Amino acid sequence: MILTYCYRIKPTPEQADKIDHWLELLRRHWNYALGQRLGYLRQTRSQVDRCSLVSESIGEIPESVNYYTQQAALKETKILFPEYKEIYSEVQQINLQRLDKAWKKWRVPDKKGKRGGRPRFKKVGQLRSFEFSRVNHPKATIKFDGKNLITTRLGIIPVIVHRPIPEGFELKTASIVKKADGYYVCLTAKDEVVPEPLPLDKIKSAVGIDVGLKEFLTTSEGETVPIQQTYRKAQNHLARQQRRLKNKQQGSKNYQKQQNKIALIHQKIQRQRKDFQYKIANWLTRCYDLIAVEDLNIKGLARTIPPLVPPFQRGVRGDDAAWGQFITIIEAVAVKCGVRVVKVNPHGTSQDCSGCGTKVPKTLSVRTHECPKCGLVMDRDENAAINILNRALEELQVVGLIISACGGMAR
Ligand SMILES: [Zn+2]
Repeated sequence: MILTYCYRIKPTPEQADKIDHWLELLRRHWNYALGQRLGYLRQTRSQVDRCSLVSESIGEIPESVNYYTQQAALKETKILFPEYKEIYSEVQQINLQRLDKAWKKWRVPDKKGKRGGRPRFKKVGQLRSFEFSRVNHPKATIKFDGKNLITTRLGIIPVIVHRPIPEGFELKTASIVKKADGYYVCLTAKDEVVPEPLPLDKIKSAVGIDVGLKEFLTTSEGETVPIQQTYRKAQNHLARQQRRLKNKQQGSKNYQKQQNKIALIHQKIQRQRKDFQYKIANWLTRCYDLIAVEDLNIKGLARTIPPLVPPFQRGVRGDDAAWGQFITIIEAVAVKCGVRVVKVNPHGTSQDCSGCGTKVPKTLSVRTHECPKCGLVMDRDENAAINILNRALEELQVVGLIISACGGMAR
């Protein structure tokens, strides 16, 4: 199992300047390397005997560009731009590897035929982290002694260890990240334990979860958790600060300060949202052995907010819900405590009757499910949650399950 621990670090102003300078140099290098790749692509896209309207003239066929040629060119970079000598080669290589990864995501479709977006050129300040591939290794350039980060070129940087790294874990990589409120180090730790999900016959309780815009989630037991409207609450504050930014001269010191103020608000919103989601995920994993959720990827675009927003959704922002992030968090929490998470195809879960399976069509504004065939009447979302649970159980072929909740929200 690999875990990531992020700690705040306290560099001196000189060290902070140095980190900033490194980030800027790495950013320029990223942009250069990306430009090189795109240039190669443009020049070689057209076939030899064609003339293309969109590609550039062929002329001499340029040498191919890939990670290895770019890595080999690092040597030359250091001669041409001696500033780069200061940065560890390892850090520069990983910077190029990150580009290579992003590039391949764009060029090579995955199993489902999906591709990522084109890697972007980064503006000033947009490259926010650099990485070391080894920590505490005899050959490593960075060491962590439990209190300080020790490097020869950056010096000793104190780390605020607000929680210890669990025993038995070995540190693997470290990255230094610049965020709106300061600098952080993210350490990845690995141990040999492979977490195993609970065996099927040991599952004692299960729950289905329907996520939505009315309630953040509804369980198959009928419990609901409201959406925490962090973004909405901060909206006025945010708008005010953004207006102030407009009055500042672009690029000035005050402009940057104001920009940082806005970044801090966004950071706070993000953290509140994440905290809330972790609390819900922990509550669910404490209470149930199996959690069934919708596979949001299947539904895809149908999940986005409908163009005609019904009255009850007014003011609720989709990003305050952030179900995708929530499901990732549930999965991560569940792995740690051996709880199973099953993702099911959500198609029709809100329409079908959980009692008899009849299709009961209803629009989004109909909040109760009433089955004309078996007479079942219940909340629309609860009905969907039960359907989701049933699908998961069907998929796993769990029979004779005792469903019991540990009752109430432990918040
Ligand atoms: Zn029915």
